[in-house]
Amino acid sequence: MTDAANPTWFHEAHDYSGSAIGFRVTRQLHAEQTPFQNIEIWESTDWGNIMVIDGCMMVTGRDNFLYHEMMAHPVLFTHPRAKRVVVIGGGDCGTLREVLRHPGVEAAWQVEIDERVTRVSEMYFPELCESNGDPRAHLRFEDGIRFMKDAAPGSIDVVIVDSTDPIGPAEGLFTEAFFRDCFHALGDQGVIVQQSESPLYHGKILKALHGAMRAAGFGQTQTLLFPQPVYPSGWWSCTMAGKNLDLKAFREADVRAKPFETVYYNADVHRAAWAMPEFFRRLLEG
Ligand code: SAM
Repeated sequence: MTDAANPTWFHEAHDYSGSAIGFRVTRQLHAEQTPFQNIEIWESTDWGNIMVIDGCMMVTGRDNFLYHEMMAHPVLFTHPRAKRVVVIGGGDCGTLREVLRHPGVEAAWQVEIDERVTRVSEMYFPELCESNGDPRAHLRFEDGIRFMKDAAPGSIDVVIVDSTDPIGPAEGLFTEAFFRDCFHALGDQGVIVQQSESPLYHGKILKALHGAMRAAGFGQTQTLLFPQPVYPSGWWSCTMAGKNLDLKAFREADVRAKPFETVYYNADVHRAAWAMPEFFRRLLEG
C-alpha cells in the first residue's frame, strides 16, 4: 500500500531519450479517463500535488511558477497594450492566473478542450484557480483550433498556446493552418506564444514550429528558454511570433515597475531567455 509511511515512485519514461524522471509519491488522489485523455493526481513527498495527463507530467505544486510565468509575462510585456488575451489549453488555470495579474488586460478567454482538467485542478490546485472568478476571466470548454478558426479578424491582442505535447487533440495546435487562423484573429502588433517543448530533445518540433509560424505570415519568431525540472530534460521553451512588431522591443520599464510579484520572471530573465546556445542556433539556421 502507498501512503505517507510507505512512499513509492511515480516514473515518466521518455523512450526517445532513453531516460525517465521520477517523483516520490505517497498516494494517488484522483484518476479518471475523460473523453479526451487520462488524468491522474498524485500527492508527492517533495513536489506538492502532481497532475499527470496520459502518463506525462503537466503540473506540480512546487515548480509550475517557472512555466506559467514564462508563458504569460514575456508575451504580455512584448505587446504594447494587450487588452484581449486568449489562452488555448491551459486547463490547470495557472497561465490564466498570471495573465490576469496584468491590470491592462480587459478580458481573458481560457479555451480548454477538456473541462475535467479544470474541474480537477480546482480540487487539487486551488491556488492556480484563484483568479477563475475574476470578472475578466471567461472559461470556455471547446476545441481551441475551432475557436481560433471562428474568431473575428483582428479581435485578439495575444494568444497563448498552453497545450499538451503535439499528439492527440493538441497535434493541430502546432500546424501552419492553426497559426494562420491565429494570424487573422490577431490585431496589428498581435503576438502569439506557444509552449515549444525541450530544446535538447525536441529540436525537430521546434524547427518545424518556427517554419509553420513564418509560413502562416508572422514576420518574426523568437524562442525563449527556461528551466523546468519536471519536464523532459529539465529544460523547456516557448516560442513567440509577432505581427508587425519587434519581438525584442519589450516594455522593459513596465517590467521593472510591474505592480505584482513574480517568483522567476523579471526583465533580466526576459533578456536571458533569448540567449541561444550554439547547437540551437545551428538547428534553427540550418
Ligand atoms: N504545462 C503543460 C505542459 O506543457 O505539459 C500543459 C498543461 S495544460 C494542462 C494542457 C492542456 O491542453 C490540457 O488540459 C489539454 O486538454 C489541452 N488541450 C490539448 N489540445 C487542445 C485543443 N485542441 N484545444 C484546447 N485545449 C487543448
